[in-house]
Formats: sequence, structure tokens, C-alpha cells
Amino acid sequence: MKPVNFDYARPGDVNEALKLIADDSQTVKIMAGSQSLGPMLNMRLVQPDLLVDITGIEELRSVDQRADEIVLGACITHADIEDLRVPDVTCGALPYVARGIAYRAVRNRGTIGGSLTHADPSADWHSIMAAVGAKVVLRGPGGERTIPVEDYMVGALEADLQLGEMLVGVKVPKLSRSARWGYYKTCRKTGEFAHAIGSFLSDPDRGVSRVVIGATESRPIVVTDAGRILGDGRAKQLNTAFNSDAAANAVEAAGMIDPLDKQTHIVALRRAIEQAQSA
Ligand SMILES: Cc1cc2nc3c(=O)[nH]c(=O)nc-3n(C[C@H](O)[C@H](O)[C@H](O)COP(=O)(O)OP(=O)(O)OC[C@H]3O[C@@H](n4cnc5c(N)ncnc54)[C@H](O)[C@@H]3O)c2cc1C
Repeated sequence: MKPVNFDYARPGDVNEALKLIADDSQTVKIMAGSQSLGPMLNMRLVQPDLLVDITGIEELRSVDQRADEIVLGACITHADIEDLRVPDVTCGALPYVARGIAYRAVRNRGTIGGSLTHADPSADWHSIMAAVGAKVVLRGPGGERTIPVEDYMVGALEADLQLGEMLVGVKVPKLSRSARWGYYKTCRKTGEFAHAIGSFLSDPDRGVSRVVIGATESRPIVVTDAGRILGDGRAKQLNTAFNSDAAANAVEAAGMIDPLDKQTHIVALRRAIEQAQSA
């Protein structure tokens, strides 16, 4: 199948893009790397009148280093992160995860903004960005708002985007030197979408302890105060402090009751903790 006919615009800045997507007299769709949108167009799951290609917007390809965080433009690609073309403030967590997304051709074009907005529960950025405590920056007719990544996915394939809004950046906090993180995805082949994801961040110097169970049926399960699961984060071998019962309670409380599903996700988390990495 081929896409329906559509018009194409390539705005030069965010204001121009916002004007184009504000037009509610026609169906307007933003296009970033097109790695998810392309197949949806071909299958006619989306039938836009106008495609707004945002990849030429300089602001969305930029990086803003601040005292305690870095702001990555929405069109930073998976490969930009993998190849360290943007500075890493996560003790290696984001580049590690980027390397495991699909294969190189997809990583060259796929963007963090596109992946987060597509809101596939199995997508890697949702889980690791939630683990490190990242936030998305959304801009629209009402101005700008910033929300935690874990609140951006409302449900499978549904992001919290208001009419006329777009994602312009992702704020990633700078981890301290005491930080340890882990990320493990269960998939049959390297680079495949995950069946289960376990991820965590333990950053005791900043008082941060987070666990993420991803690749669920909907948004990832995020435990923002994960001391009961990870301990105080000071144990030399973090896996000796891992409390799998507390992890099981957290996933059950979030509604995951299928025993196999639960076990696969808890094992993914255990492996993430066993493979804990630091700066
Ligand atoms: C074969 C294959 C394997 C893959 N495997 C994996 C994998 O293992 N792990 C993984 O995480 N991902 C995987 N992906 C998905 C890939 O990471 C995509 O790059 C990503 O899902 C979408 O990013 P994109 O930039 O291509 O967005 P697009 O496809 O251009 O857009 C996706 C959606 O987001 C909207 N959008 C894009 N940017 C913005 C913005 N800034 N503001 C508002 N809306 C926006 C679009 O309108 C569209 O609805 C795979 C894709 C393919 C084709």
C-alpha cells in the first residue's frame, strides 16, 4: 500500500512549525525521523493532508548544557547519542541504550522526540529516560510546559500532547559520580523491540532511587522512591540489596497480575541490577 497524497512543509523554526500544526481545518502530522510514521503512512493508518517535517529546525538539533541538566533538542537522533555527538551526563546510560535500539539505519534517522511521542510501550527511550528522571518540554499556543517523561505516555501509542503542541526538548539531569544504573531488555534478537524491560537508577549523593519496569501493555511502571527495592544504594554489590518481593508488590500494585509477565519483568529488573554500571 502507498500513502495518501499529502502536502509537505519544512519549516525553518519552531514558531513556523507551530503555526502550521495549529491549522485545524486539515489533518496535519509532524514528521521527524519517519521511522514509525513512514510505515503508518504506507499502511494508511494515518492519512494527513499536510506533513510538517521538523528535521531542518536548528533549535531541535541543539544541545543546551546547564548546571545540573542537559537539554537535548527533540530531533537529536539515537545515533547522535550512541556516537557521543551530544555530551553524555548519564554515566553512559543513554549511549548504552541507544546502541540497542533497532539497527544502525533506524538509529541514524530516529529521534528522541519522535520515539517518545510515538509512545510505544516497548520503546527504549521511555524506560531509560524515566529511570534517569528526564522531563519533556512541550511548546504550543499556550506557551511551554515541562512534565516528567513517565507522564508523557498516557497509554499505548498515546502521548499527552494538547492541540497545536509539539515536543521541543528533553531535559536530562546530570548524574552524580556515585550514580549507578542498569538497563536490561528481553528480546529474542539484538535490536528488537523488547518483551520486558528492567531499568534502575541509584544516585545516593542526589538522594535519587528509581526503578522502571517497561515494555508492559501500556505506560512503564515507575517507582520514584525505590529504596524498598534497591536498598540505600550504598551496597558494593547492589544485587545483594535487591528485594524481589518489593519489586513484585510494585508491579502487582500497578495492575500486572499475569504470573509469567510478572516473572519476566522482575527477572529483567534483576539482570539490570546485576549488571549495574557506574561512571
Ligand atoms: C525496524 C524498526 C525497528 C525498531 N526497533 C526499535 C527498538 O528496538 N526500540 C525502540 O525504542 N524503537 C525502535 N524503533 C522505533 C524507532 O526508534 C523510531 O525512530 C521511533 O519510534 C520514532 O522516531 P522518529 O523520529 O522516526 O519519529 P516519526 O516516525 O517521524 O514520528 C513518530 C510520531 O511522533 C510524532 N512526532 C515526531 N516528532 C515529534 C515532535 N517533536 N513533537 C510532536 N510530535 C512528534 C509524529 O507525528 C508521529 O506521530 C524501530 C523502528 C523500526 C522501523
